[in-house]
Formats: sequence, C-alpha cells, structure tokens
Amino acid sequence: MIAPTALFALDTLLTDEEREIRSTVRRVCDREIRPHVAGWFEDGELPARELARTLGSVGVLGMHLDGYGCAGMGAVSYGLACLELEAADSGLRSLVSVQGSLAMYAIWKYGSEEQKQEWLPAMAAGERIGCFGLTEPDFGSDPGGMRATAKREGGDWVLNGTKMWITNGSVSDVAVVWARTDEGVRGFLVPAGAPGFTVNDVKHKISLRASVTSELVLDGVRLPGEAMLPGARGLSGPLGCLNEARFGIVFGSMGAALDCLETAIAYAGDREVFARPLASFQLTQEKLADMALELGKGLLLAVHLGRLKEAGTITPEQVSAGKLNNVREALEIARKCRTLLGASGVTLEYPVIRHSVNLESVLTYEGTSEIHALVLGKALTGIGAFS
Ligand SMILES: Cc1cc2nc3c(=O)[nH]c(=O)nc-3n(C[C@H](O)[C@H](O)[C@H](O)COP(=O)(O)OP(=O)(O)OC[C@H]3O[C@@H](n4cnc5c(N)ncnc54)[C@H](O)[C@@H]3O)c2cc1C
Repeated sequence: MIAPTALFALDTLLTDEEREIRSTVRRVCDREIRPHVAGWFEDGELPARELARTLGSVGVLGMHLDGYGCAGMGAVSYGLACLELEAADSGLRSLVSVQGSLAMYAIWKYGSEEQKQEWLPAMAAGERIGCFGLTEPDFGSDPGGMRATAKREGGDWVLNGTKMWITNGSVSDVAVVWARTDEGVRGFLVPAGAPGFTVNDVKHKISLRASVTSELVLDGVRLPGEAMLPGARGLSGPLGCLNEARFGIVFGSMGAALDCLETAIAYAGDREVFARPLASFQLTQEKLADMALELGKGLLLAVHLGRLKEAGTITPEQVSAGKLNNVREALEIARKCRTLLGASGVTLEYPVIRHSVNLESVLTYEGTSEIHALVLGKALTGIGAFS
C-alpha cells in the first residue's frame, strides 16, 4: 500500500525545510486540534483566542510576510501549512487565512509604518486577532456596489454601513473595513469597541461551524485620520488581499480532500460487506483511483502555483484556476468518500461529512466558483461576462 500523495512523489518537489514545516503544523494539529474539532463543530464554537496564541507560537500567522515578527517563509511553505490546517478543519485554516492573508496582509501591504508597528507583531504572535470586512448583505460577488461609506469630518473619518459574513468578526481586536469615500474605495482599521461599532455573530450555520462568522455594523463610527490605510486606493486594494487568501485555499482544499481520502481508504480496508473487505471490490477501487488522481493533480497544481508565486510571476487568473479546480475537486472527493463510509459517513465520528459541508463555504467565499469561471472565461476570450 502507498499513501495517495506518494503516487505522485510529491515530496520530491519539496525542500527539507518545507517538509519540516509541514510536519510541525501537522503535529500541532494532531495535538491541539484533531482531538477537539468535531466537538467544536458540533457545538458551533471555536476557542479562537487560545488557538491564535498556539498558532502564533509556531509562527503560522502571517508566515509568508517579512519583518514585524513574521516568519518570511516561501509560498509553498505557507501553502503546506494551510494544507495541514485544513486537513484538520477548514474553520482552522479560515482563521489563519483571514488573520495572515487578509487582515495582516492588508496592513503589511497598504498600512503606514505606525499601523504596521502597532498591529503586525502582536497579530503574528496571535495576541491580537484581525478580520476583513468587504462583503455586505447586498454585495458579495460584486463588492464594487458596496454601500458602506467613510466621510471626512475635519481631520476624522466617520464610517457607516454593514458588513456581512465576516470571519473572526466577534473575536477580532481590529477590523479592516472597506468603505466608499469621495475618492473611491479605501480601507480603514476599526478597533474593537469603537463607539458605534457593533458585532453580531451569524447563528445556525451548517458549514464552517468551527469558525466565527459575524455581521459588523458601523453606525457613525468616528476614527482619526490615521485610521485609513494610506497605500490602498480603489477595489484593487481588497482584491489584492483576496488573491493572497485564495492562494492558501488552493493548498488548503487539498488538505481537506486528503484527510477524506485517507479516512475512506482505512475504512474500506476494515469494513466487510458481502463477507469481503469493501476495499476489495472493483467499484470501490475505481472510486479510490479516481480520487487519488484528482488529489494528486490538485497538489501538483498547488506546488506549481506556489513556485510561480515565489518567482513573483503568478497572475490572478492562475490563482483563480487553482481555487476553482481544487475546491471543486475537493468537494467531489469529500462527497465520494462519504458514500464509501455508508451510514457512518453522515456522523461526526468521521471527519468526512464535516469536510464536505465545510467545503460548501470554501466554494463560495474568496470568490464563488462561478466568479472564478468568469475570470477564466474573460482571460480565454477577452470578453468580460460578469454583468
Ligand atoms: C462562512 C463564510 C465566511 C466568509 N468570510 C468572509 C470574510 O471574512 N470577509 C468578507 O468580506 N466576506 C466573507 N464571506 C463572504 C463571501 O465572500 C461571499 O459570500 C461571496 O463573495 C459570495 O457573495 P454572496 O454570498 O453575496 O453571493 P452572491 O454574490 O449573491 O451570489 C449568489 C450566486 O450568484 C452567483 N453569481 C454572482 N454574480 C454572478 C454573475 N455575474 N454571473 C453568474 N453568476 C453569478 C454566485 O456565484 C452565486 O452562485 C464569507 C462567506 C462565508 C459563507
């Protein structure tokens, strides 16, 4: 028997350091997350503050950024960390993606020196948590329609509006909020507890239950002039951050798929049907072979995109291709693995149904599969079909 990843000799594409980082994150997940995550999912709770400190102590938060307490690792190392986190649960990877690739990246890329000094070292250590407010109740795929506003009043900014579906919202110390100004969309750092700023958790989610999702309400929130991110102008600001987070999902989704496939292979070996192991039936083997192929292709694509990112040549369209393919295939793998587990597959005793319902959110956030298809369609034809 060989591991699904060994079929493609994936490790030959990785450096010793990358393999070591993968093992470290896997060990943390085995020790701190796997024993508890089904319970967190069932209860719809996440000890986000504790986890952020644990993940900060191993250098995972903002690990692909340089300076300000960040580890300055390469894109493939970051991707492998996302893979291991999402093999535990997509909610964990979401916490890390939003912290590192959305909130910290926005400050790192577009912030003033004072903003970087104030937030990044504490966020890298997991002592402070951030969230990223772009989506609104009426504007998800089309953030350009946003209604949130920031108006100048003397030297201050006054923010009004509502952001919806915001990961880490109620556990955050700072929200990166995107709002319309007279000079186009700008980003603002809104500290938790600012007068007029309230946060309400989204209840009754059936997906990503081990993740905090919130509504942010800004009702005349007055911020000093220096709360604005000086380096981000227009929608390219938030879209640049989303591109970072999407890259992590290219790897992360394959982590969820790998965990499902490993679970299904073990189950099929143990489970007897018609007096033989389930694994010995040709239909089972065809399912396993098909899934191993899609997993292997997705991992090869992820590593290839990681190398392009490290070389500084990756394009947003390439990231869209990776996100669209790998999340779609991970969801298919999770569903197929679920069938192999029969009735056991619908319980939280096994991780498969949890990954499957989690991946429904992953398919939707950071650009839906339809939007990424349209990005590729535009690249292939030169014709935009978004509106
Ligand atoms: C668990 C979770 C966490 C999230 N975390 C965050 C976060 O931290 N920060 C944040 O800002 N947002 C976050 N989001 C929001 C997420 O990014 C949006 O849900 C997503 O962009 C889709 O927007 P929508 O839900 O409004 O769907 P809509 O935009 O209303 O789309 C509905 C459907 O229409 C399709 N569609 C839209 N436009 C077109 C078109 N032109 N052609 C064809 N089909 C189209 C979509 O693909 C989709 O199938 C999160 C969402 C979830 C579920």
